[in-house]
Amino acid sequence: MCEFICHGVPSPSVFRAYIDNINKKNNSLITKFKFRCKDHGWNQSGLQLGVEYETNQNKHKRIFPAFMDEYMCGFLEDIFLRPSCYDCKFKRIPKKTCDITIADFWGIDSVDKRFNDGKGTSLVLVHGEHGQQLLDAVQGRLYLHEVDYHKAIRKNPPLLKSAKLSEERRAFFSELRSKGYSKVSKKYMNTHKWLFSTAWRILGNIIEKIVFTALALIGIKATEKKLTTIRQFIQFCIVGVSNALVSYVINIITLTLQRPLGFRYDYMVANVTAFVLSVLWSYHWNNRYVFAEGADKRSRKKTLLKAYATYAFSGIVLNNALSTLWIRVIGFSKYLAPLLNIPFSMPVNFLISKFWTYREKREIK
Ligand code: SF4
Repeated sequence: MCEFICHGVPSPSVFRAYIDNINKKNNSLITKFKFRCKDHGWNQSGLQLGVEYETNQNKHKRIFPAFMDEYMCGFLEDIFLRPSCYDCKFKRIPKKTCDITIADFWGIDSVDKRFNDGKGTSLVLVHGEHGQQLLDAVQGRLYLHEVDYHKAIRKNPPLLKSAKLSEERRAFFSELRSKGYSKVSKKYMNTHKWLFSTAWRILGNIIEKIVFTALALIGIKATEKKLTTIRQFIQFCIVGVSNALVSYVINIITLTLQRPLGFRYDYMVANVTAFVLSVLWSYHWNNRYVFAEGADKRSRKKTLLKAYATYAFSGIVLNNALSTLWIRVIGFSKYLAPLLNIPFSMPVNFLISKFWTYREKREIK
């Protein structure tokens, strides 16, 4: 038995709607369609893994980079995979259901550059005796090279993990039925969404690489778990900085809007407005990107309430306690105190967020 590393299968009805839409727009009929065209090479960047099609009107092929094609953007964002793909029963090791696994060897450059000729490199995983016999039988016809298993699967998360259930999936299908394909494709399947998640993923990879090298230099073994936590912490801090900026801007806008009213406690209104909106901002980014794992299993309302409680604790209780310590006990300036709070309040906020606010729900077996 042979299996492929499978990311998931998109909805056929969305594909039909997508093709109908192209036919309607071009007033033609698509006669040939290819996903992930490799005519210009094989890579994962999304620039070349595009789509290619021919129509009855136009004999020339049209080739789009993935990020310019709405269907590929939606597919790569996992908006319309079939329901079973978000909880796939085959994503486990050791494999009991197959003898051999075949996949694209994403990340071959970081394992062995010599094996990347730009035309596609395959990954083969052997599970047990039968699998080995199969590989032995064809090995004279292949360029084979054994590599470390953990390195080999690093860039192939679908081997072990199901796609994350997109928060937008339900709304997407309901709007597809009520409003039609053109409207939902503009709203959900667009380039800027895909570009943003790709940029966020690249940022995460860069952070991991830097942390990995730094830990190796001081002789600490970087496990997958440690790397994930450190990456999350750095991304959490980035969201934290953006939260501070958003809060400041909202504060200023609210104060300016209230000026003609001459309200005595305008600064309080500005503070509360800035708090409510900036926590909403942080919740969005943390829930969706920093602690994305398990987001589909969390209740949105509960998580949002917990996010407010967390920020209220770290922003009001903890910051006031720390400021009292710096100003009253140690004697630092009150203008310096907010800066001194950051190295303490940020990690505390992170720990509460990771282990309480956005905690992954354990599956009941
Ligand atoms: S359920 Fe699993 S194996 Fe089946 S199509 Fe979805 S991801 Fe692939």
